[in-house]
Amino acid sequence: MRWFEKVSDRFYALRIWQQACFVTLFSALGADALTLVFYSMFFSDRLLLDLVLTALITVMVAYPVSCIFLSKTATVARLAAELDKAATTDFLTGLRNRRDFMRLAKEMIDAAETSAGVALFIDVDHFKRINDRFGHAEGDRILILIAEAIRQSVRIDDVCARIGGEEFAVFMPGADLALARTVSERIALSCRLVGCGTSIEEISTTVSIGVAMHRPSQTLDAVIGEADSLLYKAKQSGRDCVMHQPPHEVVA
Ligand code: GH3
Ligand code: MG
Ligand code: MG
Repeated sequence: MRWFEKVSDRFYALRIWQQACFVTLFSALGADALTLVFYSMFFSDRLLLDLVLTALITVMVAYPVSCIFLSKTATVARLAAELDKAATTDFLTGLRNRRDFMRLAKEMIDAAETSAGVALFIDVDHFKRINDRFGHAEGDRILILIAEAIRQSVRIDDVCARIGGEEFAVFMPGADLALARTVSERIALSCRLVGCGTSIEEISTTVSIGVAMHRPSQTLDAVIGEADSLLYKAKQSGRDCVMHQPPHEVVA
């Protein structure tokens, strides 16, 4: 039934009036075919006229009816797509939300036979001060810029998410610690640059990052917990730095 799914996908990708035209055309052809069947049973001398009339009546009924029903179907499909996007996206930054991040990271970890990759936990330093000093709206604008800086710093297959207020996470499938180090340093630098020249006054937008590599058969909770506690250590080490796994190397 794959061909049927393909055909129906192509059908629903058309505009409503095009879908309605197809439905109407098939209805008219079907009605005419039935008329022919009836004529083969009850002979009549008005075959052509009746065929035209049958097609005309079907078009008049089928076109408006299919427009109404198909537009309802299109609305339901659009709402379902919007709901799906809302359920997986962070409304402010457009990155994935926490739930979607956890779902994807779990999928990758479950599928991995060796290490699934590296998790990065990123927290903006002293973000409360930015809100207090420049206002919540400016804080929101900075969060959007930081999200974009993170997105631009990672690979296309890396999963980026805003997992809390001023907290972000990246899961780098298949990455090793050397690659994660390069990427986390790039993230730290791009985030720092966000605050430079965004307004008349320079805003400090440094981040602290915890970097944890998934070990074979380690659970998602365990690797997330490790990245989170490394982030905490980065904060304790004075912020604006990247903290790797033991022996707790700090990259300022
Ligand atoms: P630290 O360096 O220890 O992380 O300090 P911090 O100030 O960044 O951390 P703290 O947890 O004390 O404050 C986080 C602030 O982030 C407080 C909260 O008002 C702000 N925040 C959380 N979500 C949003 C948001 O969506 N928009 C804005 N503008 N601010 C937010
Ligand atoms: Mg913070
Ligand atoms: Mg925080």
